[in-house]
Amino acid sequence: MILIVDDKAENIFSLKKILELHNFEVDSALTGEDALKKILKNSYALIILDVQMPGMDGFEVAEAITGYSKTKDTPIIFLSAVNTDKRFIAKGYASGGIDYVTKPVDPDVLMLKVKTLHRLYEQTRALNKTQLALRAEIEYRKQAQAELKEKMQELHLTLESIPQIAFTAQSNGSIEFVNQHWFDYSPNEKIFPESHPDDPNIQQSLNRMYKDGTPLKMEVRIRRIYEDVYRCHLLRVLPVIENDTIVKWVGTFTDIEEQKEVERKKDEFLSIASHELKTPLTSIKAYMQLLERSFESNINLSEESSKYLQRTQIQLDKLHKLIADLLDISKIESGKLKFNKKIFSLEPLVDSTIDIIRQTNHDFKITKTGSADVKVFGDDMRIEQVLMNYLTNAIKYSPERKEISIECSVIDNGSMICLTVKDHGVGVPREKQGSLFNKFYRVEETSHRFQGLGLGLYICSEIINRHDGKFGLKSSDGEGSSFYFCLPIHKNNN
Ligand code: ADP
Repeated sequence: MILIVDDKAENIFSLKKILELHNFEVDSALTGEDALKKILKNSYALIILDVQMPGMDGFEVAEAITGYSKTKDTPIIFLSAVNTDKRFIAKGYASGGIDYVTKPVDPDVLMLKVKTLHRLYEQTRALNKTQLALRAEIEYRKQAQAELKEKMQELHLTLESIPQIAFTAQSNGSIEFVNQHWFDYSPNEKIFPESHPDDPNIQQSLNRMYKDGTPLKMEVRIRRIYEDVYRCHLLRVLPVIENDTIVKWVGTFTDIEEQKEVERKKDEFLSIASHELKTPLTSIKAYMQLLERSFESNINLSEESSKYLQRTQIQLDKLHKLIADLLDISKIESGKLKFNKKIFSLEPLVDSTIDIIRQTNHDFKITKTGSADVKVFGDDMRIEQVLMNYLTNAIKYSPERKEISIECSVIDNGSMICLTVKDHGVGVPREKQGSLFNKFYRVEETSHRFQGLGLGLYICSEIINRHDGKFGLKSSDGEGSSFYFCLPIHKNNN
């Protein structure tokens, strides 16, 4: 719409006619003040402004218009009787949307200028619109980029804080981020850790995955570069999907070497345990058959049968100990190993345990030194189990020199009683001594000569710990061992 501002209604009328003839919509105002009111309310594509008006003249109206942001770019055509001072008119009209027509108005000249300025206005409007849309687009992209950057930083921070090796790759597979753990296994961020020659090639598996677009999960041994050892890892790679497209891949290598070791130990344990359980059972079966035969033939019945029964008893004891150990282990694992604690004298317990051991091991010389005449607070059955385990081990691992001593001593200013079982057997190499009380641990060098499951000392350590005691050993390879355990003496020792 075009606004005509003129104090003479007849001028407005004739201009309106000309413009309407060219299909322009027209509005009009008879004073400058009226024009300003309309300009504020409506939106005009062009203003035709009479310069000479009573009250506010055309220049004043133009000056006011330039002050409003809404109208500052609206083109103006001044109608003036004289040639107008262009310098003044141009003030505040940097957009160039300004012109003048002298009176009397030549309709052709006016129309030419109206059309030019109107087109200019339309173009400016279109340009402004495009500019606005572009700005909004730029803003949107900037924000999306900032959000993405923030998300990536968060992801990288998370990946940096986890104990696994982690990486992210673009959808085509090129690596974009690796965390610090990566460099324990690869010299730079572009090369994947080297897999064991017997294991699947990582890069090939990844290429297949990038092609298929499916997650990857595989176990692989990778080489730790500085130590030159392979450790088993679980490699997991997942796609990050946005709008149904894979935008990147996030992968981790989790070290499962220790789990694998436990699995191996468990398998080994199961095979030893079944063997250990089977051996005494086979012997029992054989003795029972022999016993049956001697009953049938009836010769030397009592002597023969008591011999076989005794041997059967030994094998049954072995079985009993094995099964008891296995039960204890499962109780320890589930936190259900219970103790019936009370105050008791240690000396009689030590003496009776030695007696039991002597009865079944006539060939061993077992001596006791010092005194255990103190009271302790604990489970006497379990403490006896520990001492019994130390003594049976001392016997088992002393195939040649059959002398064992039990030394009782009070230490730490009378606060602890220690029992040390000393043998002259195979001993334990120094570097293995720290592991003896671990579950399933057996000294490899001697494991073939002596049967066992590697559970006894672990159970002992658990029992002693639960009595606030201490344990350990002093031993040299081939010179025998001294296994000790100490318990707190009960304060009220009477
Ligand atoms: P096991 O005797 O059934 O193997 P233990 O837990 O009692 O299990 O002992 C763990 C390991 O400690 C044994 O396999 C053995 O190698 C070592 N060991 C224990 N006692 C002695 C000992 N008195 N002399 C030498 N080695 C011993």
